Amino acid sequence: MLIDCKSISKSIDEDVRRRVGNLGFSPKLVAITSKPDPSTVTYLNSQAKKAKKLGIEFEVMEGSTMDELLKVISTLANDEKVHGIFLTHPLPEEIDEFELTLRIPPEKDVEGRTPYNLGMLIYEREYLPPCTAEAAVKILESTTEIKGKDVVVIGRSITVGRPVEIMLLKKGRDATVTVCHSKTRDLPVITKRADALIVAAGRPKLVNPDMVNEGAIVIDVGINVVDDQIVGDVDPEVEKKASLTPVPGGVGRVTTSLLMEHVVRAAERLSGKNG
Ligand code: NAD
Repeated sequence: MLIDCKSISKSIDEDVRRRVGNLGFSPKLVAITSKPDPSTVTYLNSQAKKAKKLGIEFEVMEGSTMDELLKVISTLANDEKVHGIFLTHPLPEEIDEFELTLRIPPEKDVEGRTPYNLGMLIYEREYLPPCTAEAAVKILESTTEIKGKDVVVIGRSITVGRPVEIMLLKKGRDATVTVCHSKTRDLPVITKRADALIVAAGRPKLVNPDMVNEGAIVIDVGINVVDDQIVGDVDPEVEKKASLTPVPGGVGRVTTSLLMEHVVRAAERLSGKNG
């Protein structure tokens, strides 16, 4: 069975639209990029479309050297009209992404990538959590009660695997979490134990039906291009024995909605209009 991510994203969008109306001004999101590849351009176009629909101003700024990018961030950090800033990925090799991330003010860090916002997760405070991790957790929570369940996460990146692990362990969610990565032995033995799987490895068909329990929930975060088609990390056949998020139109769709929700959240806080 496919999990209906469209209705999750729709309800986030409705909430965002209402809150934008309450603000009395258009919140502004700025994406910073450097020599964007075609997939980044596609991603930015879909952000622009969603922002427009929700009444959020959206702009893309480009820089080709560290100096240029640092200047862009500094200008945006001090611009009262800008409420959200995010860096596109991947950035060219010569660009030090961590150094740039350190300069983004945590209150405008709508992607939740700064050490401040990632550190907040350890304290069980989801001030501005990483959007993709939040999307995966939200979809899982909307599908099942996760308290005490065995959740296996495949991937340990800062973008997905690690924040997902911390968020699932949070008191109140109380999942039992196992994190696997490229050096994990006997992956199928571990995945077969799982009530739920969150897969974020960037490897098409990494998870096949033999690796999944009957009736499990499988959240496919992967976005890969194979023969000009977008595919996830999970073999679509898994849908026959488990609940599975579609790719495209699954985690990615909810992630975009949450990015916009973070922009409104930031605008509410920065303008003192958060109740
Ligand atoms: P990454 O390359 O930073 O991390 C991949 C992780 O997977 C690593 O920790 C690695 O150890 C693990 N891994 C790789 N091969 C493995 C294997 N064979 N067995 C077990 N573990 C393995 O990638 P990322 O940034 O975390 O992204 C992962 C995937 O999610 C990509 O396909 C990316 O495009 C996608 N993604 C989707 C969204 C979204 O909104 N849906 C957002 C971000 C990333």
